[in-house]
Amino acid sequence: MIKILNKQSCSGCAACANICPVDAIQMFPDREGFLYPSVNADFCIECNECVRVCPFIIPRDPVPPIATFIAEHKDAIIVQQSSSGGVAYQLACHAFQNSGWFFGAAFDVSWKLMHDGISSLADLEKYRRSKYIQSEIGFSFRKVKELVNEGQFIVFIGTPCQIAGLASFLGNKRNTVVLVEVICHGVASPLIFTRYLAALSDKYKSIVEGVNFRDKEKAAVAMGITFKKGEKYLRAANNDLFFRAFGRGLSLRKSCGDCLANNFRSSADLEIGDFWGAKRKFKEFDENKGASLVIVRSKKGKAVWDSISSAFRINVADLEYACENNPNIKDSTMLSKERGQFFLEIDQTRDILRVLRKYTKRNYFMALYSYIVRKLFR
Ligand SMILES: Cc1cc2nc3c(=O)[nH]c(=O)nc-3n(C[C@H](O)[C@H](O)[C@H](O)COP(=O)(O)OP(=O)(O)OC[C@H]3O[C@@H](n4cnc5c(N)ncnc54)[C@H](O)[C@@H]3O)c2cc1C
Ligand code: SF4
Ligand code: SF4
Ligand code: SF4
Repeated sequence: MIKILNKQSCSGCAACANICPVDAIQMFPDREGFLYPSVNADFCIECNECVRVCPFIIPRDPVPPIATFIAEHKDAIIVQQSSSGGVAYQLACHAFQNSGWFFGAAFDVSWKLMHDGISSLADLEKYRRSKYIQSEIGFSFRKVKELVNEGQFIVFIGTPCQIAGLASFLGNKRNTVVLVEVICHGVASPLIFTRYLAALSDKYKSIVEGVNFRDKEKAAVAMGITFKKGEKYLRAANNDLFFRAFGRGLSLRKSCGDCLANNFRSSADLEIGDFWGAKRKFKEFDENKGASLVIVRSKKGKAVWDSISSAFRINVADLEYACENNPNIKDSTMLSKERGQFFLEIDQTRDILRVLRKYTKRNYFMALYSYIVRKLFR
């Protein structure tokens, strides 16, 4: 049975909890707010299925990609409303056009991020855009399997570890499932996120009504939070405390420091992300407005991409160039050396904004460095 001896070696994908035939595994949050499996030994029948499906015990083999594209949706409103170039939106439409299901991550009423499936475009809005915290898989893998057994068509979007977990969970029963991974920098703690929202809610003396991690009014990556009384918090990522902790590897899950599902190892059919460096290579694309990187990873992925690509302006791209500008395709983010102390202080304080500020202070040299980088590359 699964034993978590080292937190770095569990991504929280919940494949083990989904596969257990006697429901002996439950996912519980630790003090940092990340879910880990816990086995009730009284129920366990020692079938070892949980070990067999774990992508961090038995990592999946890398499969070389087939093709790489830069893409931007032809509908400028869809690009504006999406994190990158709107590929996820079109994939969802493709699922619905085939009378199928779309699985993604959406906030519930208490700002908990949950993975689930929908079968209608009318329900899509809250499943759109990136939320840079870990989503709870719950029993959505089981739901996918039930739908597969009914012969339904499914598009499932998730982080590489979620996709690897689902691929292992489904085994060879995935003919009607399109697995789509987002390129992954790592996932921040959901606990830090909800406490950060609560602190801003206190500051603005109003209830949070909407969160957009990719509010394009201000910058390519900016935090936009709307409040019930009508005010709006809008900060570019380098000026927002949540994003600064995320970017520096302070608030990420431990497994993200040594990811075993990136670098083409998840068995995804398609991989999507931002095409950073787009403007320098392709005059007609601008990553600040939203340009997608699409990596076709399987024949099934190619068939799906071929059937939706007419909705986009596209160009063939060089995979090596894309990887140079987007290190998380192949490599893990380095976790901050201060991560442990940071979480300890977060646990002990009521003033989360003070701790976030303390650990993400910009010093003079960092400011100078980012100024030079901006001047050189913009
Ligand atoms: C945690 C995280 C880290 C990322 N890191 C990078 C990176 O380092 N480099 C890069 O190029 N791109 C990264 N991305 C991907 C990027 O932000 C966009 O999601 C991607 O380019 C798709 O954009 P889109 O316009 O096609 O669709 P969007 O409209 O942005 O749709 C995003 C899709 O992802 C799903 N999703 C949202 N949040 C989560 C989550 N927390 N877990 C699982 N699924 C989720 C949504 O349901 C939706 O279907 C990351 C995404 C996430 C969620
Ligand atoms: S060994 Fe089998 S029964 Fe025991 S926890 Fe794992 S999956 Fe469940
Ligand atoms: S990585 Fe996934 S399958 Fe493995 S122990 Fe963690 S939650 Fe379970
Ligand atoms: S970096 Fe790896 S382990 Fe962390 S969420 Fe992304 S895919 Fe999962």
